[in-house]
Amino acid sequence: MKQPAALVALARALSRLPGVGPKTAQRLALTLALDKGLAQELEEALAESRARLGVCRVCGNLAEGELCPVCADETRDRSIIAVVETPADVYAIEKSGEFRGVYHVLGGVLNPLEGVGPDELNIEGLLARLEGVEEVLIATSMTVEGEATAAYLGELLKDKGVRVTRPAYGLPAGGSLEYVDEVTLARALSHRRPVGE
Ligand SMILES: [Zn+2]
Repeated sequence: MKQPAALVALARALSRLPGVGPKTAQRLALTLALDKGLAQELEEALAESRARLGVCRVCGNLAEGELCPVCADETRDRSIIAVVETPADVYAIEKSGEFRGVYHVLGGVLNPLEGVGPDELNIEGLLARLEGVEEVLIATSMTVEGEATAAYLGELLKDKGVRVTRPAYGLPAGGSLEYVDEVTLARALSHRRPVGE
């Protein structure tokens, strides 16, 4: 028996979401096919997010409008920029309550095997906003790619008159900031080390 084409197409689209394999995608597609109310709710939420959510023109964080809440906040310390991979990292650091600076979202890490080079990341935007900045805290994850990205940025920022730091050791190796508990993250952010050490 052939499955309905619309169901197959829906499952295929859902399987492109992170963490959703073919089996889960099929189950989700069936659920949505049978529950019209849920499908409509999802449709409206998707339309709403597509219409309202965009990228902050300063830092690359998720924003409703021109600026993200951090860049729109006049009280944030603009002398320190935390460079992170994704908006999820911004949320994790905000939750730790330890950081009063501003952010810069790269949109990923360098990963030559997956075709992610410097041009694929929001690096030009970082170099363009260094005026008045004293410290750039590179809070990419403690993975091989995260470390390589930190080293690359460290080199790039070397002669730019800013202090370049990494969060202290104590963050789990191989881990993404998103999954670090708040206390550990707060401690790692308050104790920083120069990049490359
Ligand atoms: Zn912003």
